[in-house]
Amino acid sequence: MAQGILAEVMADTALVKELADVAKDEALLKGVLMRIQETPNSSELVTYAPFTLFPTPVPRAVFFQAMEVQIHYNTLVDRISRDHDFLRDALASTVEVDQFTARLFSIHQQILAEGGSQAVVLGLNRSDYMLDQQDDRSSSLKQIEINTFAASFGGLSSRMPDVHRHVLKVAGRLDESRRILDNDPAAGLARAVAKAWELYGSERAVVMFLVEDVQRNIFDQRYVEAELWKRNIPTVRKRFDDVCQTGTLGPDRKLFVGGREVAVVYFRNGYMPQNYTSEQCWDARLMMERSLAAKCPDISTHLAGTKKVQQVLARPGVLERFFPDQPEVVKQIRATFAGLYTLDMGPEGDETVALALAAPDRFVLKPQREGGGNNIYGPEICQVLGAVKGSERTAYILMDKIHPAPAQNFLLRRDGPLTATSCLSELGVFGAYVRRGGETLLNECVGHLLRTKSSEHSDGGVAAGVAVLDNPLLV
Ligand code: ADP
Ligand code: MG
Repeated sequence: MAQGILAEVMADTALVKELADVAKDEALLKGVLMRIQETPNSSELVTYAPFTLFPTPVPRAVFFQAMEVQIHYNTLVDRISRDHDFLRDALASTVEVDQFTARLFSIHQQILAEGGSQAVVLGLNRSDYMLDQQDDRSSSLKQIEINTFAASFGGLSSRMPDVHRHVLKVAGRLDESRRILDNDPAAGLARAVAKAWELYGSERAVVMFLVEDVQRNIFDQRYVEAELWKRNIPTVRKRFDDVCQTGTLGPDRKLFVGGREVAVVYFRNGYMPQNYTSEQCWDARLMMERSLAAKCPDISTHLAGTKKVQQVLARPGVLERFFPDQPEVVKQIRATFAGLYTLDMGPEGDETVALALAAPDRFVLKPQREGGGNNIYGPEICQVLGAVKGSERTAYILMDKIHPAPAQNFLLRRDGPLTATSCLSELGVFGAYVRRGGETLLNECVGHLLRTKSSEHSDGGVAAGVAVLDNPLLV
């Protein structure tokens, strides 16, 4: 069995303790860093970002399946973002009941009415998967979601391979150590940002990271910034407030913030309703969208990443719309889809409700939200679907629950106990693309991320304090 590879090491309590100390120091040495919770906006005190003591076995075939399909996902997202009729129809029922999506959609409509904004499109995304391993022979790669907005951990995951390599060496497992793959999403993401910056065509213009008010995970972004500075591309970090107070849009639609012209807006904030703390934040978002700067993502690519769009894509014949002459691409993408079900009003949605009520443990109920902790599981699905009135249910989609096989590991987090834990992992694959007008100038898979959490938790990422960073050990 896959988990067996490191079973002997894991059973040696004294060795595990020694390795945990070694691992934490190595993480600090390699820069797998986070600010501490108490002072999230200061770098005076930092700690290691939480991570697993050991890498997690991942079947080679599914790992490469995920890497290979990524450029097609890039193309798909980009094509959806340009298909305004599709976006309108797909989101029609959602915008009626979901205020946040409606607000984003209205910005999208306004940009369209004004004839579009930027010429250069920059897409950085992360497609997340779990392995469905219900009968323990087969592993089937199933997409959880694709993040087209603020997909994180490309920086820190670039530093993770060396940490596990070192742990395995100290554990006397040189063979396994050699099998940890190189990974450098930070460099690949930055390559695409740099390309967009170049195409904008002004040496003095900056790449603006639109950042959160609370910046505990700043180092993850600093790695991407560092890659840009290596190319002498200036970066600045600004909050919504800064844009509200100092942002201007000239008649030529050039965006200036704090007196600097902005070539690229890289959104690392703005995907949750609570990120928009005032009406001015919405005004600032609209101003950025209307500008000539390349937005990562632009408003239509943001909408293309919604869970409702994911559900619509899983309907028969929809992928064919985006790849009319490429049945093999359709097949490759569709193979990664889990069962997704509409909750739109009408007989199909009624059937979905019946399906969910009959076997809630088979499903996950998802609202149009990002950032972890929003999904609904088990008996709570019945409560929610029982309580919704009128068309409120259309704010959700229903998805088959994926069942990965648990693997033992140790989760290392500041002041946490060192106990063997049954864990589940989620594989993310980073994609990057740049398009100018009708011409795609870059389309790449730029790396991966493995996140692992205790199987007790059904939801939540690294930033939410549930999952930790990991590396795949291909088997
Ligand atoms: P978010 O946008 O909040 O990150 P996700 O769709 O990624 O929403 O779900 C959050 C977490 O919930 C995932 O990281 C995963 O752990 C769990 N999850 C989501 N969908 C499923 C599913 N279909 N089966 C099992 N777990 C899931
Ligand atoms: Mg997610």
